Amino acid sequence: MADAVILDGRAIAGVIRSDVSVRVAALRARGTPPTCAIVLLENDEAGRLYANSIVKAGDAVGIDVEMRRLPAASTTDDVLLALAAVVDDARVQAIIVQRPLPSHLDAERICEEIDPRKDVDGAHPYNQGLLMAGESFLVPATAAAVMEILKQPQVPSLDGARAVVIGRSSVVGRPVALLLTAANATVTICHSHTKHLDAVCHEAEVLVAAVGRPRFVTAAMVARGAVVIDVGTNFVDGRFVGDVDAESVSKVASALSPVPGGVGPVTTAVLLRNIVEVSERAAPRTPA
Ligand code: NAP
Repeated sequence: MADAVILDGRAIAGVIRSDVSVRVAALRARGTPPTCAIVLLENDEAGRLYANSIVKAGDAVGIDVEMRRLPAASTTDDVLLALAAVVDDARVQAIIVQRPLPSHLDAERICEEIDPRKDVDGAHPYNQGLLMAGESFLVPATAAAVMEILKQPQVPSLDGARAVVIGRSSVVGRPVALLLTAANATVTICHSHTKHLDAVCHEAEVLVAAVGRPRFVTAAMVARGAVVIDVGTNFVDGRFVGDVDAESVSKVASALSPVPGGVGPVTTAVLLRNIVEVSERAAPRTPA
């Protein structure tokens, strides 16, 4: 069998960004420039790099992304205060609280304080509840990015497909599993207590790896012809490495998303699209 088709996240992101640019121009022409605030704790280097990439990507399409940096030692109340300022700011239509938050903070309470209408990374319990009910509006961007990649023409229909997700975090694994279920796949969620993980993964027609362990998924875990989506972004020896051993897995999978250049760029593009979406909803209607 030939090597797996590479599911090019940069190309998918480019298509999403083109649509976003047109919609941003329309919003700006109406005098309502889309503006997003990112609340970022300064102890998180990976979070800082990610937030910078959103600022840059926003800049390229005309979205204003403002950082609200907080010292590493900030308390839950400090974060809530910073959050309240952007929730109350009518100029800011979109809010991202960079996660994961440090363990000394009450993440649940903080996410509850994001206005659900401005919650472009789907962190508020209301938006999580909608996702649970199968009526998603704002879902975590990485999970939405996985689904964007699975919509590509090279990927067979998800309807009735056997899907396995490794990882059950609220940011990636769980929302991906819910979105796959909504797309009529039959889904198994695996985690660190799963027995016979290799055998369970081997049953998958669609395998999503969101583990946070470099090259964790090997060819022995992948069925011939499966579609494999690699969410992992592990920094190893100065470069990003996925959760999938791409070299061996590409010999058995029919399609594979690469790292870098797969889920990452699509996640950023989906976030921009969510920012435009909430900005359009917030913009005053013009009289008919
Ligand atoms: P996380 O919160 O650490 O969750 C990891 C999940 O993997 C947990 O559910 C854990 O199980 C499971 N796991 C760990 N070791 C396992 C093992 N040996 N066997 C089976 N399951 C195992 O990580 P996350 O936030 O979901 O992120 C996952 C990966 O995606 C990371 O590499 C992260 O950097 C990457 N990521 C990428 C993007 C992007 O935009 N590209 C965005 C977010 C995250 P338990 O629940 O039992 O602990």
